[in-house]
Amino acid sequence: MGKRFKNKETIMNECRMCKGQLEEQRVTRVQEYQGQWYIIENLPALVCRQCGDIYYTPQAHDRVIDLITSDATPVRVEHVSVLDAS
Ligand SMILES: [Zn+2]
Repeated sequence: MGKRFKNKETIMNECRMCKGQLEEQRVTRVQEYQGQWYIIENLPALVCRQCGDIYYTPQAHDRVIDLITSDATPVRVEHVSVLDAS
């Protein structure tokens, strides 16, 4: 009869946009951190089968910050083009 705490981060299985089914996939995420851009490959995420919307779990987010703030050696370094749309 212990009080059951509702999990703050309930596991999602339905897309917020279209109610499509989400499935776990590995995706590439681009993340800015303190003025620097990082590309994180093979990050586990939930992807909507219908509209392709991507949802990151709190664990995936922590993993991104972990990788960025650790001294992990990049697998490669890319040059990024910056375009001005004004
Ligand atoms: Zn969707």
